[in-house]
Amino acid sequence: MKKIDCLSALELDDVIKSFNEQSFRSKQIYNWLYHNNVTSFDMMTNIPSSLREKLAKEYQFTYFEEVKRLTSSDGSIKFLFKLEDNQHIESVLLSDGNRISGCISTQIGCRMGCKFCATAAAVGFKRNLTVGEILNQVAVLRKSAEELFDEKLLNLVFMGMGEPLDNFENLKKALEILLDDNAFGFSHRKITVSTSGLIDGIKDFFAMETPVNLAVSINGPNQHIRQEIMPISYKYPLKDLINTLKNVEIDKRKRITLEYVLLGGINDSLSHAKEFCQLIKGVKAKVNLISFNGSPFSTFKTPSEENVLQFQEYLINNNITVFIRKKLGQDISGACGQLAAEYKGAGR
Ligand code: SAH
Ligand code: SF4
Repeated sequence: MKKIDCLSALELDDVIKSFNEQSFRSKQIYNWLYHNNVTSFDMMTNIPSSLREKLAKEYQFTYFEEVKRLTSSDGSIKFLFKLEDNQHIESVLLSDGNRISGCISTQIGCRMGCKFCATAAAVGFKRNLTVGEILNQVAVLRKSAEELFDEKLLNLVFMGMGEPLDNFENLKKALEILLDDNAFGFSHRKITVSTSGLIDGIKDFFAMETPVNLAVSINGPNQHIRQEIMPISYKYPLKDLINTLKNVEIDKRKRITLEYVLLGGINDSLSHAKEFCQLIKGVKAKVNLISFNGSPFSTFKTPSEENVLQFQEYLINNNITVFIRKKLGQDISGACGQLAAEYKGAGR
């Protein structure tokens, strides 16, 4: 059966028209779906029961069940959800003391196969998430932020399981609904999509009506190292990726975030910092350094604190804005894909 909570405003208009109902019903239903996040037609109390019945004959709500919630000592909360085909995905409410962000998954597993990533190692690739599955994560996180922290969820990062630009159409539709004031009403300045560097997808991303912020996982200071840890570099070479980033048209007030996961002994030395600095010259960017978060699936090492600081200092001295991403939720398998990976590993 078709899913009601995957429909855009225009699609819902068409459905309501095809039922010969008045057009304002479409707006009411849209509001119930994406503003109030109801989970059944019966909850749409201002919709006549005849219309609710018609809808229920053709449409159902996306199955989405919270099965586990883990709270970290730093206050971050990881949610594990079960989907209709018994697969699991995760989302995280990250709290760094003064702001709360939701970290959202876009696929079950990932096809990119980055060597350091738990999603790739333990889950492989299963399928794309639907629009409803992407939005349901946000709905649960938003409700939980209010219940648990008494705060509005204003920031979203698409940095959970999966490669968002490999599920571009669903991502695009979900973003439209997230940005719509009649639906979720997020600001385009407060949403960030992170990609491993799919050049075609990046071009499509900037061709969207309202592009949100883009983060690109560079991770390797040169083609040789990058292709060893991120096989997608064979298809989209680092040089071409950087050229693309130099040439895309970005909103005046935005900058691209370049992410760099520091892997001990692989890409974390001073000479790597120099190479990286040279590489990204000319990209309107800020840099996020991330210490590798170890997992049972990986033989990579966390970098020494000294190397992290040395890397950062070199970039600062070369006038690059650089942040070290705080390790949030480490005691609850904070990094991308790890909880769902463990869940699968445990054979559940
Ligand atoms: N697929 C997208 C978004 C999900 S991964 C991407 O690769 O950008 C989000 C970020 O987590 C990426 O920057 C990735 O390089 C990083 N990451 C993955 N595994 C990690 C680990 N074990 N420790 C630290 N960062 C990790
Ligand atoms: Fe996929 Fe991102 Fe993990 Fe690479 S780091 S395997 S792109 S989720």
